[in-house]
Parts: sequence; structure tokens; C-alpha cells
Amino acid sequence: MTSTALEVRLASRPKGWPTEDTFEVAEVEVPTPGDGQILVRNVFMSVDPYMRGRMNDVKSYVPPFQVGAPLEGGAVGEVVASNAEGFAVGDHVLHGLGWREYSVVNGKHAVKVDGNVAPLSTYLGVLGMPGLTAYAGLLATAEFKPGDVVFVSGAAGAVGQIVGQIARLKGASRVIGSAGSAEKVKYLTEELGFDAAFNYKDGPVAEQLAATAPNGIDVYFDNVGGEHLEAAIASLNLHGRVAICGAIAQYNDTAPPAAPRNLVQVIAKRLTLRGLLVSDHQNLQQQFINEVGPWIANGDLKYAETVVDGGARQAPSAFLGMLRGDNTGKMLVKF
Ligand code: NAP
Repeated sequence: MTSTALEVRLASRPKGWPTEDTFEVAEVEVPTPGDGQILVRNVFMSVDPYMRGRMNDVKSYVPPFQVGAPLEGGAVGEVVASNAEGFAVGDHVLHGLGWREYSVVNGKHAVKVDGNVAPLSTYLGVLGMPGLTAYAGLLATAEFKPGDVVFVSGAAGAVGQIVGQIARLKGASRVIGSAGSAEKVKYLTEELGFDAAFNYKDGPVAEQLAATAPNGIDVYFDNVGGEHLEAAIASLNLHGRVAICGAIAQYNDTAPPAAPRNLVQVIAKRLTLRGLLVSDHQNLQQQFINEVGPWIANGDLKYAETVVDGGARQAPSAFLGMLRGDNTGKMLVKF
């Protein structure tokens, strides 16, 4: 085993869009695991939109990243040394200390995964946090019912691609998605079975949504915020429900967003807008795997992954690419 390894640190806090200069790739000694710890050689790491929020020095549901310290995030790797009961060399684990080639992880914070049951990458995507977000957000937060017309933004991303398909498989009367390119729109309608999809860059979201949802929508799964949320409020039917999952359109904004300007419609339509945090829904994890696992196995539910090769050195550009929309499905970095 090598004695040094790479890790990615936060070099400075971005104002507006992050750049390559936001990151520093540093060479460090491969750490030694202490009592109760394992040493993991990472195979895949995740880049996620929420990491942009952790680059800001603000109080939130997770603490901010520290300047000069390695970044953190979901990763899957192989145990190469173990001082923790229940973990052997050769096991694969999911943990939260990505952005580095080798991670020392407390055994209590690692979950064993099996690459023979499902590809290792899927534990960071369709079978992992984004998949559970889609499942819990649609069923628990938005209280989806068969027959609902469902609209999801960010529809070709890690969460969005699963939301639309669960809605379809559970009896939505119509599933509509928005995404940022013609290829993604094609992926949604031709590969994933969405009834309609549009490229939000082609024209006003409200007009495109109204055209694809002539009878309105009952559920909006919001990954984007801003103009998308305003358009959804305008198209929502009486007693419509919104799961507010993310607001990626404004994560790099330096001023408050202009939309939604039509929030008053919530009153007459008796709408419910509810925030969603996946960590509140761990109780649904087993139910999620039991239901979604067989759909994946029999091909009813498909998923895409965009895998960037090159490990720690390519992780910053993978993260920046994800924010720009370079990914279809889950964006991952392979070591
Ligand atoms: P993702 O959709 O795989 O990747 C981000 C996507 O956002 C990009 O591919 C890009 O696709 C789209 N995007 C970027 N700028 C945009 C803009 N201005 N307007 C519209 N779309 C834009 O990411 P994900 O992991 O599935 O996350 C999706 C959302 O869910 C994020 O907002 C994230 O913060 C949120 N989330 C929340 C929770 C929770 O617990 N609340 C958990 C996981 C994720 P296009 O090419 O389509 O623009």
C-alpha cells in the first residue's frame, strides 16, 4: 500500500459560483486507524448539491465545511485495515468521509454494502440517499395518491429521475419533468416513461408547464425553486401538494430570488408546501429498498449515472459540472 494519498480541501469560501480555486488537492500521509476504526480505500465518492451550502459559513442542518480542512460527503470503498468489530479487510462500506483516497472511519459510522447484490455506485445513488429522498419526498412529504398529476423539476438528476418513475409505477395519471437540455428531455420521455417533459431553458417555465399539464398538477416535487416553484404554484390544482426538496437555481445566487411572486394563491387553492430532509425519513429505508429494489432488478425502474474518472484530482471539476448540469442521473467520481 502507498504511504501517501490525496485529499480535497476547501481552499476558500466561494461567493457566488465556486471555481477550481475553491478547492485544494493536497498530498497527505495515509492515516492509521485507531481503536474501533477502519481504513477505507475509496472506490466512488459522491458530489451533491447540498455540499455547495456547506461551503457557506452559515448555521444549517449540517455544519459548514472548514477552510483548510478536507471536504466530506458520501463515499463507498474497500476496508484495507480494521480495528473495528464486525469489519474485515475486503469488506465494502458506505460512509460519509469522501473527497479523499483513503478515509479513517469510525466503525459506528460505516455501513457494510455488498457489490454482489448491487453495483457499488448505486449505494450512493438510486439505492442510497438520493433514492430515499425521492421515495420519502414523493410518498411521505407530498402524500402522493394514485391518479395524481405529478411534476418534478431537475427531473433527469439523481433524485428527479427516481421521483418520476416511482410516481409512474404507483399510478400517477400523468408525470411531467423539466430538465436543462434536449438530450435530457429525450431521456425522460423515451427511456424513463415520463408522459411529457420540457427544457426549462427553451422559454418561460410557467408557459411550458401549462402546455404540458392542460388539466393542472396535483403534486410538485421541487428540486429547483425560483421560477419553477412559481410556475408550479400557478399550475397546481385545489389541495395540491409540494415537496420542497431543493432550490438549486439559487444556491449560487448572491441576492434573494425574484420568484415565487404568486404565493398568495396558496390560500384560495389550499395548497400544502412542505420542506423535506431525507435524514428525517430513515424509518422508510427498509420499505424503500423492499419496494424499489425489485423494480430495479426487473427493469421497471431505470437509472443513469455520470461517472467521472480520475479520483481526487477530478472531484472539483465533477462537482462544478454537476452544478452546471453536466450530469444525467447521479454524478459520481471514481478513484
Ligand atoms: P442532480 O439533479 O443530480 O444534479 C443537479 C442538477 O441541477 C444538474 O444536473 C442540473 O440539471 C440542475 N440545475 C442546475 N442549475 C439549475 C437551474 N438554475 N435550474 C434548474 N435546474 C438546475 O442533483 P440531486 O442530488 O438529484 O439533487 C437535486 C435537488 O435535490 C437539489 O436541489 C438538492 O439540493 C436536493 N436534495 C435535497 C435533499 C433533502 O434531503 N432535502 C436530499 C438530496 C437532494 P439541468 O441540466 O436539468 O439543469
